[in-house]
Amino acid sequence: METKDILSRRGIAPSLTRLKIYEYLRAASHPSVDEIYQNLKEEIPTLSKTTVYNTLHLFVEKDLAKALFTDFSKNRYDIKDVPHAHFHCTECDEIHDIHEITPPRIAEDAIEGYLAKEAQLTLKGVCPRCRRQNTNSQ
Ligand SMILES: [Zn+2]
Ligand SMILES: [Zn+2]
Repeated sequence: METKDILSRRGIAPSLTRLKIYEYLRAASHPSVDEIYQNLKEEIPTLSKTTVYNTLHLFVEKDLAKALFTDFSKNRYDIKDVPHAHFHCTECDEIHDIHEITPPRIAEDAIEGYLAKEAQLTLKGVCPRCRRQNTNSQ
């Protein structure tokens, strides 16, 4: 499906900026607002960080993207597709998709009195590349 149609189907007017941000988000690995802004500002001279933030917020609201909550200050975003876990490397700060492990499916009413909407699974540690580099430098 074309990006234009993906956005239209969710009731989002497919402006050039939105198309570019969606496509960047889909191709990149869990970018922050800042990363998206830095990479698209030349292509879209009118772009501001506020626009990137508002667009991501709209995607989240329309269920096209999700904000990843990690312990660093900047939110990172991911296309909402097949449920998958994440691995956050504390050495290089990259977030990798992990498909070997499925995040737990938790019923909305699993906890008395709460309405659970989503469960995310993020593993933390050292990614293979950083592990190799650590071994080489020792
Ligand atoms: Zn790493
Ligand atoms: Zn992911």
